[in-house]
Amino acid sequence: MRAHERYGLKRVINARGTYTPLGVSRSSERVREAVGEALAEFYDMDELQAAASRRIAECTGAEAGTVVHCASAAITLAVAACMTGPRIDRVEALPDTTGMNNRVVLPAGHAVNYGHPIVQDIRLAGASPVLAGSADSCSINELDGVLSGQSVACLLLVSSRLVHGEPISLTGAVAAAHRRGLPVVIDGAAQDMRIGELLATGADLVLISAQKYLAAPTAGLVIGRAESVAAVRAQEKGIGRSMKASKEGILGALAALDERQTLDLLQWRDRQARKVSDFAHRANRIPGISARAVPDRAGMPISRVHLHIDPARVGQSAGAVAETLRAGDPSIRVMEDDAENGVLALELVPLDSAELDTIIERLDELSSPHRDS
Ligand SMILES: *Cc1c(COP(=O)(O)O)cnc(C)c1O
Repeated sequence: MRAHERYGLKRVINARGTYTPLGVSRSSERVREAVGEALAEFYDMDELQAAASRRIAECTGAEAGTVVHCASAAITLAVAACMTGPRIDRVEALPDTTGMNNRVVLPAGHAVNYGHPIVQDIRLAGASPVLAGSADSCSINELDGVLSGQSVACLLLVSSRLVHGEPISLTGAVAAAHRRGLPVVIDGAAQDMRIGELLATGADLVLISAQKYLAAPTAGLVIGRAESVAAVRAQEKGIGRSMKASKEGILGALAALDERQTLDLLQWRDRQARKVSDFAHRANRIPGISARAVPDRAGMPISRVHLHIDPARVGQSAGAVAETLRAGDPSIRVMEDDAENGVLALELVPLDSAELDTIIERLDELSSPHRDS
């Protein structure tokens, strides 16, 4: 008996993307096998982390890498690493930062809430977030002004959906921090297809959620300069104890990285684009719904389907349509950020054709009673 039946859990069709409250992603058979194998074995965890570092370095071109519990943990541990370096007395003292520089600067528009406030990841290490510029924009000059003083690091965020306002130049921001001798950490949690680009900004550490598009079990990849990665690993003797990677997390993430190496990205991209355009085409035939493909804003190689709901013809608002989809069985979850403007967004990457059919059928049913009015 499967967990859905045994525990009476709802069936969910997740069209919200790599969304943590819905279980994030679907792992391939190869990744599931790697996790199953790991769970049955013992490993010398230092040796496993060393192997992970080598493999991450090979796959990304970075000097080193390590695996921690998740990207949120990676932010806290990267901040901790910037404050302590390799010093064990400092590692054991955190979150007490007496005698350490502890200000972490980020552009105000990057102080997002991805389920909780990102500045809390900074505070968890004992550091103090300091915001530069305004929510709408932060110039390199404004950033530089705040980087002076007791700063210990600069944190930048790259996200398709969370960052709003005028984008800051990542390379410009990295250069400004480096001119002041400060390390830069980039939270690119859902940007695993752009790791090379993010490293090329000169950032010291790039942080990735392995469970998002890589579709590994929950794990955070910390990728970058060997010295910085070593300082993150040093946190295992301190606050990192409660943020450690599991053996199955590490081996699942490595299997997912291996799989990514053999992925034909152009073919994958074509397949995703076709899926999106086919779906939009079918949705467009439903009266009162107009659908179009919208490319990812941050540069991930995917598009999402935006459904514009005409309430007069469908008989309910976009928000009500989302609610109806959610209340059904299976429960269909879509992105509602723009529902006020009549738009629902769907991400199709992990969905199979039967699930796509179900979504189309349900949209069709919901609009049909109003068809002749
Ligand atoms: C998902 C996400 C995180 C948190 O990642 P976890 O691996 O779930 O901890 C952090 N930052 C951004 C921008 C995210 O999208």
